[in-house]
Amino acid sequence: MTKKIFRSTLFVAIVVLFASFITILGVLYNYFNGSQNKQLHAQLALASTAVENEGVSYLQTMHFDSFRITYIDTDGTVIYDSLVSADTMENHAAREEIQEALQSGFGESSRYSTTLTERTIYLANRLSDGTVLRISVSSYTVLSLVLELMQILVTIFIFAVVLSSVLAKSMAKRIVNPLNELDLDHPLDNDAYDELSPLLKRIETQHTQIKTQMIHLKRTQNEFEAIVNCMNEGLVLLNNKGIILSINPAARKLFCTDEACIGKDFLTVDRTHEIHIGIATATQKGHSEIRIERNQRIYQFDFSRIESDGHVIGIVLLTFDVTEQANAEQTRREFTANVSHELKTPLQSIMGSAELIENGLVKSEDMPAFTSRIRNESARLLTLIEDIIRLSQLDEGSEMPKEKVDLYCLGEEVLASLQDTAKKKDIQLSIEGTHETLYGVKHLLSEVLFNLCDNAIKYNVQNGFVRITVSSDNAYIRVAVTDNGIGIAPEHHARIFERFYRVDKSHSKESGGTGLGLSIVKHAVMYHGGKIDIISESGKGTTMIMTFPK
Ligand code: ADP
Repeated sequence: MTKKIFRSTLFVAIVVLFASFITILGVLYNYFNGSQNKQLHAQLALASTAVENEGVSYLQTMHFDSFRITYIDTDGTVIYDSLVSADTMENHAAREEIQEALQSGFGESSRYSTTLTERTIYLANRLSDGTVLRISVSSYTVLSLVLELMQILVTIFIFAVVLSSVLAKSMAKRIVNPLNELDLDHPLDNDAYDELSPLLKRIETQHTQIKTQMIHLKRTQNEFEAIVNCMNEGLVLLNNKGIILSINPAARKLFCTDEACIGKDFLTVDRTHEIHIGIATATQKGHSEIRIERNQRIYQFDFSRIESDGHVIGIVLLTFDVTEQANAEQTRREFTANVSHELKTPLQSIMGSAELIENGLVKSEDMPAFTSRIRNESARLLTLIEDIIRLSQLDEGSEMPKEKVDLYCLGEEVLASLQDTAKKKDIQLSIEGTHETLYGVKHLLSEVLFNLCDNAIKYNVQNGFVRITVSSDNAYIRVAVTDNGIGIAPEHHARIFERFYRVDKSHSKESGGTGLGLSIVKHAVMYHGGKIDIISESGKGTTMIMTFPK
């Protein structure tokens, strides 16, 4: 702005200067010409009177240096000339001023000399005898005046331009300084120019509007940040060049990075090929999903394209911890595969035996063995199906009728029902402790104790023992089932509660195990809000401890 004002002011000054020069030159030129003309007329009148009285002798006695006098005869012959010898001069009859003077008594003309810078003015007067007296003088033309004054004009011009520049600069500064010093934070406090008042008022109004919008925006941003920061899901915003615009704490933790990564390429944070394929796919197709394992957890990454006016402006990445879901899916898949397998084996055995009998390939003495196999495998199938149904009931978590159950009495009943089984291995069954009452589902608790004691007998040694201990403290009731059987090596402890997991598959099957017993136990205990722990070592027996809150 300063430059513009400066340039404009300087331009105006130069234009004014030029106009002044031209005007002054015109005025000067007119003035000089006018006064020269007057003088010339007076001199001609004076000389005419003198020549009328004294004849040409007057002219010969006079000395003319500021103008030239020529005396011409009636036929145009030059009688006298103050500058050159009259003999050398040509006839002047054809000269414009002479002709005019001869005709009307007075003639006037002007002619440029060889250059345009000089002009000669001629005035001629016819005397009473018909001769003509002519006076002439060289006068300046405009051009010669300009050339003559050039040096001074240029000096004045340079001086004027320099002076105008300085003045224009200081004026521009003086105009602009108040504008530069405007306090736009408080527009109405300014006292610069009255003309600025509407603008300053408008700025003040806009300030107020912006402030209100900023407060609103800040509040929305704070809310957004609070939500994003508390999210368990990771959130990353990338622009269309893959630069990180925003990354929430959950995502920072997942990618092991900090806030400093904002503004950097996502490649500097993570170079996993699948993630970059996911980003590229989302950019092209709008959405993509991948699953990735990180820190022993499984994460789902959802990429979505962000568009504005039909252009891709970025990608939003949401990460979910789906470990539990993935594990559940895996368990379900394994369970389905296991169930199919476990059901197929006894059925194939039944089918095979039945076919042999049907085709008359079984001798009559072998018949009891075949029918007993069919019965045993059918019983196994039944137990398996019952266990599966029980597990699915527990999985569903459906409400079952609860009652007060004396765990000590329940233990006695279970042991009584297993007496015959235990006898086959000469295993001692016993129960000790106190009568503790739990508000629970009796048949479930009975099944839990039965499974644990049954396992303790199944995986016991000849002449071993199985002992139930019921106890309690202020907060918990504990029921422990201890045996001195084959025990379980520590590496299996975590897995024996999984469905169909068996330490020794053949031993389990031999003794009619389905591999679902401990799974049912765990779920039934959990159904009662309790937990189950195992203390066992290979060859040193096993203790299963159930803890229920009172
Ligand atoms: P199963 O029907 O095979 O007995 P369970 O779920 O009841 O299935 O038990 C899972 C596995 O845990 C068994 O196959 C067995 O190897 C082991 N197990 C369970 N209880 C005992 C125990 N008291 N002593 C030794 N091993 C046991």
